[in-house]
Amino acid sequence: MIREKQKPIVVVGGGISGVTAAIELAEAGREVILVEEQPYLGGNVAKMNNYFPKLCPPSCGLEINFRRIRQNPRIKIFTSSVVIAISGEKGDFRLQVKTASQLVKNCCTACGECVKVCPEERPDAFNYNFSNTKAIFLPHEMAFPMKYSIDELYCRKEACSKCVEVCPYDAIDFRAKEELTEISASAIVVATGWHNYNAGKLETMNYNASQDIVTNVEFERLLAPNGPGQGTLHRPSDKAVPKEIVFVQCAGSRDENYLPYCSAVCCSASLKHALTIRERLPDCIIRIFYIDLRVSGRNEDFLNRVKEHKNILLIKGKVGKVEVDSQTKKLIVEAEDILKGVKEKYNADMVVLATGIVPNKFSDTVALNEFGFMTGDQQAGIFAVSCSKKPMDVSSSVKEATAAAMKAIQ
Ligand SMILES: Cc1cc2nc3c(=O)[nH]c(=O)nc-3n(C[C@H](O)[C@H](O)[C@H](O)COP(=O)(O)OP(=O)(O)OC[C@H]3O[C@@H](n4cnc5c(N)ncnc54)[C@H](O)[C@@H]3O)c2cc1C
Repeated sequence: MIREKQKPIVVVGGGISGVTAAIELAEAGREVILVEEQPYLGGNVAKMNNYFPKLCPPSCGLEINFRRIRQNPRIKIFTSSVVIAISGEKGDFRLQVKTASQLVKNCCTACGECVKVCPEERPDAFNYNFSNTKAIFLPHEMAFPMKYSIDELYCRKEACSKCVEVCPYDAIDFRAKEELTEISASAIVVATGWHNYNAGKLETMNYNASQDIVTNVEFERLLAPNGPGQGTLHRPSDKAVPKEIVFVQCAGSRDENYLPYCSAVCCSASLKHALTIRERLPDCIIRIFYIDLRVSGRNEDFLNRVKEHKNILLIKGKVGKVEVDSQTKKLIVEAEDILKGVKEKYNADMVVLATGIVPNKFSDTVALNEFGFMTGDQQAGIFAVSCSKKPMDVSSSVKEATAAAMKAIQ
């Protein structure tokens, strides 16, 4: 008897969860199609300075996974791509995938000759616009696939063509068009993850009033060795070394007016940031204002380490507002200290808003809960995993993704 060839399983989202699910599926013998919106895999983890609990760089976990992908011919990757239509049912889905025009072909070796001659600049979204790249750019230094991209908003294409002239591999083609691909699949794993809550909505935090009021994800980039400061923390407005930094926990989170739920990782993230600052700027005074500190498992050790340091002050109390002194441009944080029973004003060179996790939108075919997280539908062959389902850290995301892969195979 000839067994009918099994249809592939589609994984949507190439962050740590989607990458994990794709590898587990492929190593268990299934064909996998991994669809990722960005030109690179790794998602939010790729943007981090380091990650708890071990405080290792993101390259640590991602590099090993990228090697497993390279070695596995069962995984087909569509980057710069999104799923625009889903029809059919469990065992027999049909998906339409749209891939943005690939002006840089796969034969690019990332030699960098193009960047040397490119005259145009663009804001670098990978660094939350704190720095610029050329219009032809490598998304980041450990991008996978390791290939340049072109920002069509800034590139003058044929009117310039300097990159085409110098490319030794003939890898640039301005005539490339976006492509549509039809895919058959037996199941769909949705790992589309999260983005940061829009801090501009928090009126009293004055996020848009100063470059020195940043979100926690922006702070990751400001600390990162491959970030705008190349590992040296500077205050964005004038590049001065900050002497006092305030962290505002639950900035908008657990608040009916903004994000009613807890994002589970922000407390550990701020403790991680405090420990990183302590290493680089031991004299910097760090104040962390919190409602209650929610750390669990191995991250409790962070709390103990933070408590040992005299320059890191954990203050139980909510921040009422952040203001910018119109003369000095210094930041003034008004907050209550519940344990002392006082309301005080504190100066700060930088304020870091620990804003929460908001699920990315995917498709109307997938059911959502009241907060917009996907519930998935295992019976229907659609498996939502990790932060597309609820906020969680990397180690829980990896466990979720592995479990979903096994269920999708069954
Ligand atoms: C400030 C901060 C610090 C953190 N630090 C840590 C830490 O130190 N340690 C830790 O364990 N956890 C940390 N976390 C949590 C960690 O970021 C998440 O656990 C992790 O990102 C989950 O990975 P994911 O793959 O589920 O989602 P993501 O990382 O969000 O990846 C989702 C991927 O899906 C893609 N995508 C989205 N929509 C589509 C679409 N429609 N089609 C195709 N692709 C799509 C995205 O481009 C992205 O690549 C932190 C979180 C925050 C907010």
